[in-house]
Amino acid sequence: MSAIYFHVGRSVPSDKLVPKKVIMSGNAGRIQAINQIIHWEPLPPKTPASLEEMWAENVFNLPKMKATLPKAVFKSSKKTIVTGEKLDLSIADAVANAMKDWAISKGALYYAHVFYPMTNLTAEKHDGFIAPQGDGTVISEFSGKLLFQGEPDGSSFPNGGIRGTFEARGYTAWDVTSPAYIIDTDNGATLCIPTVFVSWTGEALDKKVPLLRSIAAMDKAAHKVLTLLGNTEVSHVNSSCGAEQEYFLVDANFASLRPDLLLAGRTLFGKAPAKGQEFDDHYFGAIPERVQVFMQDVEEILYKLGIPAKTRHNEVAPGQFEIAPYFEAANVASDHQQMIMTVLRHTAKKHGFVCLLHEKPFAGINGSGKHVNWSVSNATQGNLLDPGDSPHDNTQFLVFCGAVIRGVHKYGPLMRAAIATASNDHRLGANEAPPAIMSVYLGTQLEEVFDQIKTGSISDSKKKGLMDLGVDVLPYLTKDAGDRNRTSPFAFTGNRFEFRAVGSSQSVAGPLIVLNTMLADSLTWVGNRLEAELTGGAELNTAILTVLKEIMEQHDVVVFGGNGYSEEWHKMAVEERGLANLPTTADALPILQEEYIRDLFQKTGVLTPIELESRFQVYAEQYILSIEVESKLVVDMTKTKIYPAAVEYLSKLSSTISSLENLGVSLEKGTAQKIAELTNAMVAKVTQLSEALEKHDFSSTHAHMGYCASTLRPLMDDVREYADALEGEIADEFWPLPTYQEMLFIK
Ligand code: ADP
Ligand code: MG
Repeated sequence: MSAIYFHVGRSVPSDKLVPKKVIMSGNAGRIQAINQIIHWEPLPPKTPASLEEMWAENVFNLPKMKATLPKAVFKSSKKTIVTGEKLDLSIADAVANAMKDWAISKGALYYAHVFYPMTNLTAEKHDGFIAPQGDGTVISEFSGKLLFQGEPDGSSFPNGGIRGTFEARGYTAWDVTSPAYIIDTDNGATLCIPTVFVSWTGEALDKKVPLLRSIAAMDKAAHKVLTLLGNTEVSHVNSSCGAEQEYFLVDANFASLRPDLLLAGRTLFGKAPAKGQEFDDHYFGAIPERVQVFMQDVEEILYKLGIPAKTRHNEVAPGQFEIAPYFEAANVASDHQQMIMTVLRHTAKKHGFVCLLHEKPFAGINGSGKHVNWSVSNATQGNLLDPGDSPHDNTQFLVFCGAVIRGVHKYGPLMRAAIATASNDHRLGANEAPPAIMSVYLGTQLEEVFDQIKTGSISDSKKKGLMDLGVDVLPYLTKDAGDRNRTSPFAFTGNRFEFRAVGSSQSVAGPLIVLNTMLADSLTWVGNRLEAELTGGAELNTAILTVLKEIMEQHDVVVFGGNGYSEEWHKMAVEERGLANLPTTADALPILQEEYIRDLFQKTGVLTPIELESRFQVYAEQYILSIEVESKLVVDMTKTKIYPAAVEYLSKLSSTISSLENLGVSLEKGTAQKIAELTNAMVAKVTQLSEALEKHDFSSTHAHMGYCASTLRPLMDDVREYADALEGEIADEFWPLPTYQEMLFIK
């Protein structure tokens, strides 16, 4: 068989696939849920279809444009898509018309401008192609204007003070570099157009505008450097991203019995099971049948959307999995990443699962990240972070790699801020995910090269296959120049950097904006320094070495190859190297208000001070809201589920104890005593938490965030400690919530 075959067919026979919904609550619901799951019947085999047939079936991509557009129109659109050049608006009507005809042939009656607000979600406004004619008939119509510009009344999207509701007008505009596609569900098809979202006054209200600007800024700075390095032809430099998405699957019936999973996406209670991930028996193990059917369904949808899903496997924790697409241009990868999250969530429902993208759904086992693999490249010079196999490529590589090192040192706290969310705080710094201190891992060989650059006397050797630096000034490097380091937040992995600290529920746009922007700044600096050296009469290789040496002298403290999880590193990083350790979002977000960060975004043209401030306000509000919602849930669940279960069991125990005493038999009272004590202690903490939630008098956003981090969150943990201890004392038949054991191990 040459082609790869998959099961296809949109409508899954859902009565077979999905366990029926439980109708009871509490303990009875738990038992009912378990029964449903273990009697689940596997799907009957479906008709296979080839990958080639499915690929991009639902995307209005270049081949489809070529087939449907007049030649000149196609040529002009392609130019914009490939080079990022401004679009020629005179062709708009022709493109819109071809797109509409294609969409209608796929059954779409509606189109939607899809945009990416400052939340990590996607938003869309649907409009019909319908155009009523004066004579009582209708025709389907779609003009260039409607394709290119929309006007959702998005006044309820977070805007961080940019728009008052009295000036709620917002505009969406097609981002031509990201193709339109059809979302085809059982409930009908919709043509989706990826757009930017800006305010009435032109400020960016979304994540796409700054991402596109950051790519443009990086392109401009890279162009100058590449030209100084002697390249005569330099094409558009773009950034690439391949994001590995981790997620958990939990049976929907279990989730429906857990208000915390439904509303907060993570468990706020739950005793650790006797067996967790200690045996590492889940990692890369055989994929459970029900999960595999789900994965294939997801992949089929993604292939049709032109999303190159490439890797799937079990992750470390039980119930945890990963999907990774092949890397793409950052802007497209970012839109695709949003679609992957939507498809995962949506498809899970069809299979009777809930897909949890939260960074830490279960305490005590690994959480989920989203490793953002990032590089920059163009058509003429290739991947600029690839060491290559000739000294010339090498020079280029070392300059770009050096620029990244400088960027991470100068803007590490900004990288930390870009991954700061209430949910990711649970992961960072725990012994499973990179620390909240930003550093760069280079691998032994590269580290050695940069060490030599620092000393300036690099004539000593052809160490381990390195070229004599005295002759060619810069060394020959081999690919995969070193081992991998899982404990680093930002690691070089052969031809790209892997930002490992990004959270699983995040849009990758934010981290990509920061990486591109800091690289733009570094490359601008490198370009200016190189230019000065060259004007001063230095020979090119000497100039490069001088600039790289300067970078390493000032920024090498950010390079770290050891164990990022260790206590020693935390101490050394802060005390000896002066790196910032920003453990919580409350510590990290205020970085967005620092002057040097405002300058960075302003001078690169990525965000105006007003746009930046609005982001601080929006992210801070999201942080505060999510901790407050969780706190309320902790209070509710304790009062309505856990306390009643404890009291019911206690009353059963005590009546048994007294009945036995009437018969002259005595039963040990320690357990009843312990349950009573734990219950009282839990109630006392819940009271404290409720009172703490009532306080709303905060002088500033900073104070409010700090209060969430240092008062509410610890109180939630205190309540949980008592509740989880109770779970270990109370008879199973009284416990109202699906347990960790059930949620993680029953599939
Ligand atoms: P691992 O789990 O070993 O880190 P995976 O194969 O799961 O690696 O994922 C690696 C990701 O990095 C994939 O999305 C891959 O396409 C992407 N990638 C590979 N090369 C580059 C590159 N030059 N730039 C950006 N991403 C890349
Ligand atoms: Mg990885």
